[in-house]
Order: sequence, then structure tokens, then C-alpha cells
Amino acid sequence: MSTYTETDERLELRRQVARLAKGYGRDWFVERARSGEKTTELWMEIAKAGYLGINIPEEYGGGGGGIGDVAAVCEELAAEGCPLLMMVVSPAICGTVIARYGTEEQKQRWLPGICDGTATMAFAITEPDAGTNSHNITTTARRDGDEWVLKGQKIYISGVDEAENVLVVARTEDARTGKLKPCLFVVPTDSAGFEFTAIPMEIVSPEKQFQVFIDDVRLPADALVGDEDGGLVQLFAGLNPERIMAASFSTGLARHALEKASAYARERTVFKAPIGSHQAIAHPLAMAHIENELARLMTQKASALVDAGDDMAAGEAANMAKYAAAEAAVHAVDAAVQTHGGNGITQEYGMAGLLVAARAGRIAPVSREMILNFVAMHSLGLPKSY
Ligand SMILES: Cc1cc2nc3c(=O)[nH]c(=O)nc-3n(C[C@H](O)[C@H](O)[C@H](O)COP(=O)(O)OP(=O)(O)OC[C@H]3O[C@@H](n4cnc5c(N)ncnc54)[C@H](O)[C@@H]3O)c2cc1C
Repeated sequence: MSTYTETDERLELRRQVARLAKGYGRDWFVERARSGEKTTELWMEIAKAGYLGINIPEEYGGGGGGIGDVAAVCEELAAEGCPLLMMVVSPAICGTVIARYGTEEQKQRWLPGICDGTATMAFAITEPDAGTNSHNITTTARRDGDEWVLKGQKIYISGVDEAENVLVVARTEDARTGKLKPCLFVVPTDSAGFEFTAIPMEIVSPEKQFQVFIDDVRLPADALVGDEDGGLVQLFAGLNPERIMAASFSTGLARHALEKASAYARERTVFKAPIGSHQAIAHPLAMAHIENELARLMTQKASALVDAGDDMAAGEAANMAKYAAAEAAVHAVDAAVQTHGGNGITQEYGMAGLLVAARAGRIAPVSREMILNFVAMHSLGLPKSY
């Protein structure tokens, strides 16, 4: 008989990650963000405990689990106030794509470092001009003898400063048709011609976003991941995990905000009773909690579909989960700020600091509008609008 709860192992994993993350906590995370320091100790501790590469096959240093496991890790970290964006990118996108499509040698070279935290991999698809329309990216890769030469620009790329490598989506020219097709390349961040500058962002996070300049970066032939003709399929293999991880990041943040707000509303008394006894305070928190639980359920469904290998069904569920989770997080954080009154805007209570991070979930990695476009077209059979 199927049930609607996760397995005992998954629930135990959640408890263990939560325990580990509690040792760091929101105040530590925010302090690191505001002082411009990194959260390397936490990253290395989750790696050492085997959680970072939990979705990667054991023969490459991973835990042999699935996307549902790494999503649970991501959610529990966020629920303790330590949302790690690079978990969305390094193990879930890059790890999945390389584990599925890399050659044996590529897997041996890159996966162990992704798992043990020593060789984090960033992911770069977004470009200033193409934006959401990633079919229009212009970063190109051309062959020159045995090498590839990459040229182009990327924007909003997370964690380039913490990464050893970046999985870059570029385009190569099809020899037969002359058409450009997407291909994936692993680019070391210390390559000659590879430069990046931080974009000042309003998110309170130790993980930064960067503009990346790729100026005739020369790469060996085997920097190309997988098959030159299968780039699109390979790229899609990373996108469902990316959406599921982003959803988990949001549901974790929402839980964090709701827990803080509920505790505050139980204590704070300004008229006769705690403010939580007023429905104007209680109902928005309850509504956000319901939305978040629904989003968590859809995220778990999407993970189960990815782990069962049903990529088509997973695509729809992962999009829906990402949408629902971002909405829940925005509503939860807004209600949490309101519950705290003036304290909601102070640094001491840390609620307003969550606003931009929660809001970013509606924009990245895919915007809410593009998900609505997808659902309108694929789930409802409406005409394509773009
Ligand atoms: C915190 C953060 C981290 C990020 N990390 C990474 C990363 O690591 N790697 C990476 O490659 N990218 C990253 N991104 C980029 C992110 O994926 C993009 O910002 C996102 O895909 C939106 O693209 P854009 O910013 O160019 O917006 P635009 O494409 O300019 O869109 C602007 C607005 O127009 C709407 N819009 C556009 N077209 C349509 C349409 N057809 N129908 C309806 N609405 C439409 C969009 O939904 C959006 O609201 C990150 C972004 C953020 C904010």
C-alpha cells in the first residue's frame, strides 16, 4: 500500500541534517553574509557527513541516493536558516548531468570533488541579452585543432568565486546544418580568459552572483560533457533537479519563517492576549503553512518521479512544485514580517532579511511566468504564447 509520507530513512536523514544545521543556525549564517565571509565549514561538514553528494553514485564518492535525498538535505538546511544555493547547482544540476552523461573518465575526475566539497561546480546558462529565452544564448564554442575555444558572457551566475569549475552552456555550430546547438562544457574558474565580477545584490547571503566574461577560453577536447548532439537532452536532465532543489530551498525558508513567527505570536501580548489569538495574525500564517505543505508534497512527488526515471511527468511536477514553493515562501515570509510588527524589520529578528531570498524564488532558476506558460501549454493544451 502506498502512503503519503516519506520513508523512515528519509525522515531520519532530515532529522540528522537538521541537527547538524542547528549547530550553525540563522544568526551564524547572516553574520557570515554581512561580514562578507563564506560558509565553508558548513559546506565541508555536510560533505563529510555524506549529505552533499548523497544523490551521486557510490563509485564516484556519493551516497547512491536520489534527488529526493539531496532535496531533503537542502530543505532542512534552509529550515534552520542556512539555505545553501550552491546545493541547487553543484550536486543537483552539475552532479546529475555528469553522472548521467559524462564519460567514465569525466565522472572520475569531477564527481568525487562535488561530493566531498573540495571541487564545487557552478552552472552558467543565463546571459544578459537572452535572459529567460535561453534558446538565444550566444556564447559559442568552436573547435581549434584538438581544443575548444569558448567566447561569450553570462550573468547572475551563483558561487563562481567558490567554485573550481563552471558547467557552461554554450553553442556549437552543426557541421551539416550550420545551426547552433547547445553543448555543455566544464570550465575551470582559473582558466586564462575566464573572468568574473560580483553583482551587488540585496539578498542576505554569503553566496554571491557574478557576471562572467569568457574571452577565448581554450579547453581540452574532453571538456565537452557527453555528446555534442545530445546537449539539449543532457541539459534537461539537470533542469528538473534544479527546480526541485529550488522548491526545497523555498519550502525550507517558509518553514523557518513560520516557525519564528508562530513562536513570536504565541508570546507577544499587546492587548489582553497573545497576538496569535487574533485571526488577522493567525490566518495568514495558517494559510502560508497550508500552501507550504502542499508545495512540499508536490516537491516530494516531483523527486519521486525523477528518481523513478519518468522525466516527462517529473518536468510538469517539478515546475508546479517550484511555482507553489516560491509562492508559499513569499506568503510565509510576508506574514512572518507582519507578525513581528516593528521587530519584523529589525536585523535582530532577521525576518525582513528573508524577503529578498524568498522573492528570488519567483524569479530563478525559472520565473513564475515561464512556469505558467509551461503549464498553460503542456498541462492545459493552450496555444504557445511566446
Ligand atoms: C539569486 C539568483 C541566482 C541565480 N543563479 C544563477 C546561476 O547560478 N546560473 C544561471 O545560469 N543563472 C542564474 N540566475 C539567473 C536566473 O535564472 C534568471 O534571472 C532568470 O532565468 C530570469 O532571467 P532574466 O533575469 O534575464 O529575466 P528576463 O528574461 O529579462 O525576464 C524579465 C521578466 O519578464 C518575464 N518574461 C519574459 N518572457 C516572458 C514570456 N514569454 N511570458 C511571460 N513573461 C515573460 C519573466 O518571467 C520576468 O519576470 C540567478 C538569478 C538569481 C536572481
